[in-house]
Amino acid sequence: MAYNLPATRLLMNRLRQMMAEDGETRSRLDNVVQLIASTMVADVCSIYLRQPRGMLILLATEGLKPEAVGNTRLGMSEGLVGLVARRAEPMAIQDAPRHPSFSYRPETGEDPFHAFLGVPILRGGRVIGVLTVQNRTERLYGDEEIDTLQTIAMVLAEIVDRIDTEHMQNGDMQRRTRNLATLKGRVLCEGLGYGRAVLHDPVVPAAKFFAGDQEVEDRRLDRAMVDLKASIDRMMMIDGAALGEDPRDVMETYRLLAHDPSWAEKLHEGVRSGLSAEASVDRARREHRARLQSARDPYLRERLHDLEDLDNRLLRILGGDEGKPQISEERSVLVARRLGPAELLEYANAGLRGILMEEAAASSHAAIVARALGIPTLGGIEGLTTRIDQGDWLIVDAEQGTLHVRPDDSLYDAYKARVALRSERQAAYAALRDLPARTKDGRTIRLMLNAGLDLDLDMLEPAGADGIGLFRTEFQFLVSETLPSMEDQITLYSRVLKKAAGKPVIFRSLDLGGDKVLPALNLQREENPALGWRSIRFALDHKGLFRRQLRALVRAAGDGPLTVMFPMVTVPAEFFEARDLLLKEVEWSAERTGRRLSKLEIGVMLETPALAYSLPELAGAAEFLSVGTNDLMQFFYAADRMTPHVSDRYDLVFPSALRFLKQVADDCATYGIRLSACGEQTGSTLSALCFVALGFTNLSMSAGSIGPVKRMIRSLDMQAFQPDFLTALEQPNESFRNQLLALANEHGVELSEG
Ligand code: PEP
Ligand code: MG
Repeated sequence: MAYNLPATRLLMNRLRQMMAEDGETRSRLDNVVQLIASTMVADVCSIYLRQPRGMLILLATEGLKPEAVGNTRLGMSEGLVGLVARRAEPMAIQDAPRHPSFSYRPETGEDPFHAFLGVPILRGGRVIGVLTVQNRTERLYGDEEIDTLQTIAMVLAEIVDRIDTEHMQNGDMQRRTRNLATLKGRVLCEGLGYGRAVLHDPVVPAAKFFAGDQEVEDRRLDRAMVDLKASIDRMMMIDGAALGEDPRDVMETYRLLAHDPSWAEKLHEGVRSGLSAEASVDRARREHRARLQSARDPYLRERLHDLEDLDNRLLRILGGDEGKPQISEERSVLVARRLGPAELLEYANAGLRGILMEEAAASSHAAIVARALGIPTLGGIEGLTTRIDQGDWLIVDAEQGTLHVRPDDSLYDAYKARVALRSERQAAYAALRDLPARTKDGRTIRLMLNAGLDLDLDMLEPAGADGIGLFRTEFQFLVSETLPSMEDQITLYSRVLKKAAGKPVIFRSLDLGGDKVLPALNLQREENPALGWRSIRFALDHKGLFRRQLRALVRAAGDGPLTVMFPMVTVPAEFFEARDLLLKEVEWSAERTGRRLSKLEIGVMLETPALAYSLPELAGAAEFLSVGTNDLMQFFYAADRMTPHVSDRYDLVFPSALRFLKQVADDCATYGIRLSACGEQTGSTLSALCFVALGFTNLSMSAGSIGPVKRMIRSLDMQAFQPDFLTALEQPNESFRNQLLALANEHGVELSEG
């Protein structure tokens, strides 16, 4: 097969013309396969399309029998074409009939062909089809040919994805009308939203696939790569020395990847073959995504994620302002494969109507930021970015966990009715704002706010919270590109205290590691990050960092009160070591400044079951204990909070977990340790009811939960409910949750769920 670079460019030019021409899809595809076959001097060129049920159907061919079009169907596990689709990788085979996966289809008349090259047609990381060339002679296709075919596959993806295969039998091939679709997701922030899809990852429009002037494109690519490297170098210029760690791992690998000459060479190669700089990067991104979908090894997955991030960064640089997601003031719903907390914050003032993510667990930090922003958010929607196009209308039902893509009128009407109902409910909660969270029989429960960002503080008043029960100090670290200085920390803590205006604030000391990895800290990759070098363990091993934070807290408090709690304490020694450090800072600061705290309270979080059996040792030293259900439940049930398949499976509202918490509550009463809870579970009215019935008088939650929980508390007669609750806990029936719901109903308790 004669093959060279000018031929590829010629092919690209012709392809560009073909794509620009109007015309029926079928004849366009016929022209494309003819063009490829003739330019690549192949005897056969075929396009297969993957159908919704996973079969691959022959869509167009040059060289195989025309009758086979629309009739030849292959399973994903069938033949070489199936193998390419399964692996999502190109395959070049010298003698196809001798390959173990070869499947002979007489209707195609393909038996005389030997050489085979197949490449996947990818869209959004999903294989939507396969493009093949074949030759009669035995030969092995070279790298350049493979690259060219991959590039063509990319161009074809946009057309091929919209073909309706249901209409193929009679030779008719229609464009698929983009129908309504309903997808399921997890509610990460409750609410309802309606708007047009705005894709977070840059999209390269088909019109921009081809290079006008190759030299210009080459220069643009070079300039963008220089900018990219400079931005990564800036991210690395942090105060790493303070951590006492070798600068390694995450950022360093990231930097190495960006400087990898083979990545740059591959991108330039794309430009040389006639692609625009954007299209060349897009091609690399498609490959990385596709490999990511099939990669199982966690290390490889991380690397591919890094590469995809780099592709996206480069595309953003190439796109300049034009490439930025265009959020319209009125109605936009952000659609992203994954989002870091800092990225999400960039959209904070954009007036988003909804956020949709492919990845994410309810306790992930993007989810926590979304709740701070109060934007209806769904996560864990598989294949999200391949099902939605830029500009599609969407209904985000983050009450029931449903996403309607391109809804029809009746769905829209139903949505409007739900919005009206929701506003009524919100108005009812707002009316409770200034009323106490007191049960019918006169027990007052403190309802506090979980916070970590400036944005949260604005919710203190409108939510009617009694104070801040959990201030996640690590958020300041997570959302900035460099390590916050001590001055930055003092500024933030002072602002928090000022905004709280005398209401109590519990600062939680740095809780890094686990799912809160800072690229800037070069944390080592771990097999099980949730069980690893994180939180208080990490802080105690980085005393410089930890002491600076404690000092900042003491400075910010000045001569007012200060309350601090330590996360993830597993054994008492960790608590005592951290407490000693804090006490030293308090003394040191008093000596230097002459100002003394008016009051200091030190508490501990209960996040590991082990600590529950060390309460006698903490008596007299820990003023209070705050249950962090997010971590506690993952360790109690051995179910990773970040893995959607298991994180929801095990419930706090279950006899074993509640009996455990009852024991903790009883022990705290015995040892004189004040008790509170601050994990995300406090925000569900049924769980909050359980906490209150177990004797908790202090619950901290996100702003949106305070209204519903307050309503529940005000409808509760504890004296009447508690004995029945405790009996149920001792004698649970098969569905304990239903048993409790029935009990709550019997007692007239107003719950939001169930
Ligand atoms: C918890 O684990 O419940 C908790 C409040 O801490 P975080 O969610 O920040 O880990
Ligand atoms: Mg925790």
